[in-house]
Amino acid sequence: MRRPLIVGNWKMNGSRSRNAELLGALLSRWQGVHQAEVGVCSPSVYLQQLADCLTGSNIWVGAQDVSPHDSGAYTGEVSAAMLAEMDCHYVIVGHSERREYHGETDALVAQKFAAAQKADIVPILCVGETLAQRDAGDALVVIGEQLKVVIEACGRDAFSQAVIAYEPVWAIGTGRTATPKQAQEVHAFIRDQLGEQGLGVRILYGGSVKGANAADLFAETDIDGALVGGASLKAEEFIEICRAAE
Ligand code: PEP
Repeated sequence: MRRPLIVGNWKMNGSRSRNAELLGALLSRWQGVHQAEVGVCSPSVYLQQLADCLTGSNIWVGAQDVSPHDSGAYTGEVSAAMLAEMDCHYVIVGHSERREYHGETDALVAQKFAAAQKADIVPILCVGETLAQRDAGDALVVIGEQLKVVIEACGRDAFSQAVIAYEPVWAIGTGRTATPKQAQEVHAFIRDQLGEQGLGVRILYGGSVKGANAADLFAETDIDGALVGGASLKAEEFIEICRAAE
């Protein structure tokens, strides 16, 4: 019922020549029709390159961030309408690295979520707890609050055109993955918070997903795919993850 989705987050990596190589390898390894849907989120300066390579293929173009504003004096920011011109289908909002290094609040993340949808771009809303919050037994409270702010600002119905990524901060780029059981518990909680609307929403897991651990995660009822950081920079490994979702 929910189509599996794998999205690569290149973070601040790449160069025109390395991107061309990686995109070429992805396209040749992911030809034809697949059950799983695949997307790649690059730094904004490379979105035109992604659009040139991927538009019309079976891999979506995605961005890693979006401005909450439509236009104007916001130096350095990129609006949702600009992303739409680059053929972006997805945009990540509220990644923990943006929350941590750029002080993004839940309220700002909700504005970005709404801005993306206004331009017909599907937001991938990242939520997740830190290790200290998990150790204190507060993981679900923290995630519940992150979600609540977006639900209150945009409404539950908005999630029919959105994706959620559960990314425990302690698992991102650390090589330490949540166990399938830990992730499933949170995914089920997230789905529940969305009420009836939650049944159709795709909830991805993110945090050190690799070819070797993907299938066990995807076997869980409420894990509909993955947001993949480091492993999305290696074509073979990324495609192994995509295949595990089918
Ligand atoms: C991410 O950046 O969203 C992520 C999940 O990173 P990694 O896969 O490297 O842990």
